[in-house]
Amino acid sequence: MAVQQNKVSKSRRNNRRAHDALVAANPNECTNCGELKRPHHVCPSCGHYDDREVVAMTGEADFDDEDAA
Ligand SMILES: [Zn+2]
Repeated sequence: MAVQQNKVSKSRRNNRRAHDALVAANPNECTNCGELKRPHHVCPSCGHYDDREVVAMTGEADFDDEDAA
């Protein structure tokens, strides 16, 4: 088992953890349907990106089927 050679001070520990905070997502509004979407990602609700449809959203999309190729 690895054993630390020196005690990590509260200051050093807290300094290390200063960058550990979770950052909230920064969603944008889809220009096509107005739904909130992640920036630089295809809109999950309408399949549009940059004002054009890049993913066909016709009919029902079955996201539960893990076997779909
Ligand atoms: Zn959309």
